[in-house]
Amino acid sequence: MRDIYKCRVCGRYVEEPIHCGVEAIPVLDSMRRVMLSKLLSGILRHYPWEIGVKPDEEGWVRIEELVKGIRERWRNKELYQWVRREHVEAIALLDPKGRFEVRDGYIRARYGHSIRVRIKYDVVEYDGVLYHGTSRDRLFRIIREGLKPMKRLYVHLTNDLETALDTGRRHGDPVVLVVDAGCLSSMGIKVYKATDKIYLVEYVPPQCIKHVIGKHQGRILTP
Ligand SMILES: [Zn+2]
Repeated sequence: MRDIYKCRVCGRYVEEPIHCGVEAIPVLDSMRRVMLSKLLSGILRHYPWEIGVKPDEEGWVRIEELVKGIRERWRNKELYQWVRREHVEAIALLDPKGRFEVRDGYIRARYGHSIRVRIKYDVVEYDGVLYHGTSRDRLFRIIREGLKPMKRLYVHLTNDLETALDTGRRHGDPVVLVVDAGCLSSMGIKVYKATDKIYLVEYVPPQCIKHVIGKHQGRILTP
């Protein structure tokens, strides 16, 4: 992820050091951005209680409370004393995967929760294929049992192969499952749209997995 700046002219958070023709104000360097972004995802999706905040039913948390919680109660709080509201907002607004939503001083994770939240997603008729990145060692079980949400509320799918590969890389030797979205619909499984890149389903049965792409481009392993 790139450094974040704030434009002196249009006031937006941007990833370019020059915006609207003038030098922008540095807000966050890449390292702090990644570090805080990961922490925000973790707190908002999985362990808000660790900093003493309680999301509402739809997953919203007040940004001021979140910042206070991180600075006062997070177990590595000494690493986060620099955090201010604008850092949280900048990260949320510029997230490349649309992981966060910000509204009226509140923030929530858009998807990926293991905590019980009720977020209304649009059901879409998705035509074509969606991808799911995982690691090779999980492949055998997935092909036998299909894809289940495990600890999360939904199975995550994406329309972007690179995003799926990134996910796979985080889990080890990456593989990408190619899922036939029409097959899901025909089985009555709803496809929810979380962001422009991320789609959610409750389950992917084995027969809707069309094939598997290994990490070497062009090398396709058929289940
Ligand atoms: Zn500007």
